[in-house]
Amino acid sequence: MGDVAHLSSGSMIDEPSSPKTNDYRATAAAIVHDTLVWDNHGCMPVGAPFGTGFLPQLHRYRDAGVNVVSLNVGFGEMDVTDHVQTLASIRRWVSMQPDYMLVTTAADVEAAHQTGRLGVCFDIEGANAIGDQLPLIAAYHDLGVRWMLIAYNQNNRAGGGCQDDDTGLTAFGRDVVREMERVGMVVCGSHTGYRTAADLLGMATKPMIFSHSNAHALVPHPRNIPDDLIKACAQTGGVVGVNGIGLFLGPASENQAELVARHVDHMVQLVGPRHVGLGLDYVFDTAELEAYLEKMRATFPAHLGYDAAISMVAPEQLVDVVTCLVRRGYGRHDLEAILGGNFLRVAHEVW
Ligand SMILES: [Zn+2]
Repeated sequence: MGDVAHLSSGSMIDEPSSPKTNDYRATAAAIVHDTLVWDNHGCMPVGAPFGTGFLPQLHRYRDAGVNVVSLNVGFGEMDVTDHVQTLASIRRWVSMQPDYMLVTTAADVEAAHQTGRLGVCFDIEGANAIGDQLPLIAAYHDLGVRWMLIAYNQNNRAGGGCQDDDTGLTAFGRDVVREMERVGMVVCGSHTGYRTAADLLGMATKPMIFSHSNAHALVPHPRNIPDDLIKACAQTGGVVGVNGIGLFLGPASENQAELVARHVDHMVQLVGPRHVGLGLDYVFDTAELEAYLEKMRATFPAHLGYDAAISMVAPEQLVDVVTCLVRRGYGRHDLEAILGGNFLRVAHEVW
C-alpha cells in the first residue's frame, strides 16, 4: 500500500545492472542465481487415482533457479476428498526428499533459499474444496495451503467465476474471506469474475493477490484482469502474478518469454514493481490437462480459445523472461521484488 500514488510511468525502473556489456542474458542468469525466486503457481497431477510419478520432476524448478513454488492441490468442481488426497500425497513425498522442504512461514521460505532447497507450499483453486464447511479452511492452512481463490471460472457457493454470469461474492463467500484472513491464508481473485473480485478487494483487510492473472488491457480474455482490479490489488499491498499460459499472453507466433515480460511491464507501469510477481502455472502432466479440457468442453469453450493446444512457459524459460526484462531496462533491485520479494512480503504480512 502507499507507494502507488507516488509513481509515474518509467520512474520505478532502476538502471540496468550491466549497461556497458549489453550482456543481458548473463545479467539475467546472475540475478536469478542470486535472488529469491518464487513461482506462485505450478501444477502437478491432481485427483484420484493420485500417482506420484511426476513429483521427481520438481527438480526442474530447482535447476531453473526457483527457490519456492506453490503447488496446486485441486481446482474447479473437485471435492474435499480430492483435495485432501492430493495434498497428503504431495506432502508425504516432499517431506521425504532432502532437496525439498515444506514451507509454512516466511522464515521457512528464507531458510529454503539459504540452504539451496526448493520450498513447497500449496494452493487451492476454488471454494468447492471446502464444500459448506468453513472449519476446513484452518485445516487446509495447517496442511500448508497458503492461498485459495474463490471461484474457478464457474460460479459456486462462495462467488462468481470469470467465465460465468458472476453475481458477486455470496454471504458464505464473505464468511470464507473472513476465515481465510483470520487463519493466515491469502485471498486470491484469479479465475473469479469481475464483480466477485471487486467484492473481495472491497472487503480485504490484508494484502490480496491475483496469483496467476494477466493483463486484460493486452489480451481481452475473461481470464485476464482489467487495470482497475490490478490497481485495487496493489492498494491492498498485494501482488499480481503473471502466468505463462499462451492463450492469456498473446499471439502464439510471438516469443512467449517476451510476452510474459510485456504483461509484467504493463502492470509495473500501472502500479509499480512492488505489486507484480510470477505465477507461471506450468502443468507437468499435459495428458491430464488435455483430457480434463476435453471432458469439460462445455466450460472451456472453443470461442474462448480452449480448442487449440495450450502452450506454457516452462520453468527452464525463467532466465529468458528475466533477460527480456533486463533488456527493457529493469535492474536488480526491481527484479528481486518481482521474482520473489513481493510474494515474500505478502507471506510476512498474511501467513
Ligand atoms: Zn488457474
